Amino acid sequence: MIADPAPSLPPALRCSIVVFIVLAPEASTMDVGYRPTPPAWHALSVEQALARLDSRPEGLAATEAETRYRRFGPNRLPQARPRSAWRRLLAQFANLLMLILVVAAVGSLVLGEVVDAAAILGVVGIIVLIGFIQEGRAEQALARIRDLLAPRAQVLRDGRRCDIAAEALVPGDIVLLESGDRVPADLRLLEARRLRHQEATLTGESLPVDKDSAPVPEDAELGDRSAMAYAGTLVAQGSARGLVVATGADTELGRISALLGNVEKLRTPLLRQLDRAGRVLATLILACAVVTAVIGVIIHDQPVAAMFMAAVGLAVAAIPEGLPAIVTIGLALGVQAMARCQAIIRRLPAVETLGSVSTIFSDKTGTLTRNEMTAQAIWLPEGEIRLDGTGFAPQGELHAVEGDAARREALNLDDHPALRHFLKVGVLCNDAELVREGEEWRIHGDPTEGALVVAAAKAGLSAAEIRGDHDRHDAIPFESGRQYMATLHKVEGEPVLLVKGAPDRLLARCHSVRTAQGEAELDPALWEQRLQALSSRGLRVLALAEKPLHDLHDLTDEHVEAGLVLLGLVGMWDPPREEVAAAVAECRAAGIRPVMVTGDHAATARAIAERLGFEQTQRVITGHELETLSDAALADAVLTVDVFARAAPEHKLRLVEALQSRGKVCAMTGDGVNDGPALKRADVGVAMGRQGTAAAREAAEMVLADDNFATIVAAIREGRKVYDNIRKTITFLLPTNGAQGLAIMLAVLSGSLLPVTPIQALWVNMVVAVTLGLALAFEPGEHDLMRRPPRDPDAALLDLFLLWRVIFVSTLLLLATYGVFSWIHNAQGGDIAQARAGAVNMLVAGCAAYLINSRYLTRSVLSRQGLFGSRPVWVAIGLIAVIQLAWTYVPVLQRLFGAAGLAPAHWVAILATAVAVLLIVEAEKALLRRRG
Ligand code: ADP
Ligand code: MG
Repeated sequence: MIADPAPSLPPALRCSIVVFIVLAPEASTMDVGYRPTPPAWHALSVEQALARLDSRPEGLAATEAETRYRRFGPNRLPQARPRSAWRRLLAQFANLLMLILVVAAVGSLVLGEVVDAAAILGVVGIIVLIGFIQEGRAEQALARIRDLLAPRAQVLRDGRRCDIAAEALVPGDIVLLESGDRVPADLRLLEARRLRHQEATLTGESLPVDKDSAPVPEDAELGDRSAMAYAGTLVAQGSARGLVVATGADTELGRISALLGNVEKLRTPLLRQLDRAGRVLATLILACAVVTAVIGVIIHDQPVAAMFMAAVGLAVAAIPEGLPAIVTIGLALGVQAMARCQAIIRRLPAVETLGSVSTIFSDKTGTLTRNEMTAQAIWLPEGEIRLDGTGFAPQGELHAVEGDAARREALNLDDHPALRHFLKVGVLCNDAELVREGEEWRIHGDPTEGALVVAAAKAGLSAAEIRGDHDRHDAIPFESGRQYMATLHKVEGEPVLLVKGAPDRLLARCHSVRTAQGEAELDPALWEQRLQALSSRGLRVLALAEKPLHDLHDLTDEHVEAGLVLLGLVGMWDPPREEVAAAVAECRAAGIRPVMVTGDHAATARAIAERLGFEQTQRVITGHELETLSDAALADAVLTVDVFARAAPEHKLRLVEALQSRGKVCAMTGDGVNDGPALKRADVGVAMGRQGTAAAREAAEMVLADDNFATIVAAIREGRKVYDNIRKTITFLLPTNGAQGLAIMLAVLSGSLLPVTPIQALWVNMVVAVTLGLALAFEPGEHDLMRRPPRDPDAALLDLFLLWRVIFVSTLLLLATYGVFSWIHNAQGGDIAQARAGAVNMLVAGCAAYLINSRYLTRSVLSRQGLFGSRPVWVAIGLIAVIQLAWTYVPVLQRLFGAAGLAPAHWVAILATAVAVLLIVEAEKALLRRRG
């Protein structure tokens, strides 16, 4: 189970995440060192292998496992060393801003401007330090999220099956494998059933290979050692038991993976788009800066040194260097918030994509429902029987149904041999176990099978006893594509095949029914009617059947093809999850269509879908019908049908493709091995954290720690919020950069005094970026977030609206800054230092006011909630106020940045102008809203 899925950071730390985040540590070669040659496990017999490792088929004792753990260490591939601190520090210098700054510092030194050089270096130091600390924390935060996905393994310890972290495996452990598992260590197979492995990671062979427990020649190649299951390979099919022979670096994977270890830089489409736009913008700005400086020198006869600094100042002020970092922070915050609501993001781009999802294909069992099956009704040829109780507690009675009502008195099995036989078969063709843990009853294994164990227990039958009396000789496990499970036993000395599965699959293969009097002819219409009756109550229905065989040979699917004798039907109730109906309603309000894809019967699926508030439930398409539809017909159907029943994993892929052919963005859930292709193909593949196989998780963009549909909706809400906040941040940052750049450019071009010196512009740029710029990433979502349609995936991030806002606000801030500067300088008789201090403070105050505007892009913020509703915004404003007071009055800073103290009247004017800026932008919004 996944514990603590919410690795939340302390708030102070959360405010200061990131610059670039690296998901996986970089690869580094490891020291392989000397190791004794291990025995050729594949050539040993099962007994020899067990003996070599001093193990037993029922597993190691827990104490022994502990001793071995201390000796062999954790079952983990040698971790590539995380990026060292100094390399992270160096990486901070690898961006355009830093380059410009360093050039500027050197330039200033050469020109003899020591104070300027010192100020620039000081700023460089601060930026590097902040980036360094933030990045370290972001890496840690994401590493913690990665740990939530650490692999698990099923082992036998002390003779009992338990679920442990794969890291805790030791040589000698007995591991249980099922289809979809990633093999956790190198195993010598002790027992294998229809086992096939996908070994591409190891051998490059992409087709699954057969496995069994028989030894192979000692000189067999890796790919031919069919008695082995190697760490890192995937169980494509079947089940097995294996003896751990090597762990961690000693595994075959460990031997070759010295050079593996992949680095995944967190680049998302959004970041790339920004990067590209940013580079174009930077080049343009640099060109402007050069031209401006040249004009200053030639036309206005300014000193080269001053113009060099002006050009640097312009570039630094106008280039929005902070943007990618802030977007990354927004994404990282989104990942964390999603983890807190149980959605674990495996690939960062999913955070963005989630915001534009318009269809969610969801499994039913376990995702929309709780997967807590309770058998409620059994149909035998003689009639119906009802079962009391809910959940897995084996408490409740069985009652025969007469007419429409159940009889009061409980059934006695001794009077009902057919029922006893039915329940017995249900327990034998079954791998689940019912266990009591404290006060709670739990199922180990498939809940559908668990329900049958519970039903037998309610009638007083013990699964352990029944299974002890009837050894199982072979089994075909249940798989979604097959829709039944079969086992082979000896019952009363005769070999019998027992089957349970979807009735519409099995009824056609039955030629008779078993009644108390013996075999009788099967009436298909009658049973079809019974099946319908149970299904339309929302029950999952299974048929049980048997077939006498002549001898005990291995089972194949052909044995189940015909000649079965029907025993009866059982209907199970699986309650919908409480949160789901609300989540479905939320989806519909948000323009998102939930679509159910289930292996269950059409009537069952429709009943549940209606109960949960799905919209288009009149028509249900079954997997069989889906196969007959052309691609075009399916593309039409997939838009108007919300329930797909009797669907197999292959159908999921077609559904996704059909929807995408209509330009829609979809999420698809899945848990099995065969769901992989559909999950990969979907825009957001969603795997189940609990029921899901490793194969599904690895194909998915997102993993649900609680398997819950409502969590997908919560993640979408979060995704929309992240995108919104990123857009707000951009709308905020670009005009502030624009105003700073314009101020310098205009001053130089007009040959007048600079209202803001380059060093001051650098200062403003820095404080705005690290305080105000971060605030919007923490904005809570707007209340109508889930009442808007999904974002158009093709819409540009930087559209006309944004462009207009940038120009408008840049001009506004520029006017305010110039105004205060000339007012202090000309009307107030202030000296140039004081006028510049006024201009700088005006610029910062204007940005702070505009920050409040930017909380909502078009809605008015003139309300209590709008003005004061965001703590991060006011924390940032408070912070910048303190910083600016220090900047204005602390002598060292005054000297460094050429500032001077202001008079109270100046402050009043600055604050009043800031309020005016806020109101003017609100007026602009109101006009925009009016014009629609
Ligand atoms: P879902 O997609 O809703 O999980 P499944 O593919 O698991 O559906 O199941 C489809 C049908 O297969 C069920 O309606 C049931 O009749 C049958 N079935 C489910 N689980 C088992 C099982 N363990 N053994 C036999 N039959 C099963
Ligand atoms: Mg299922």
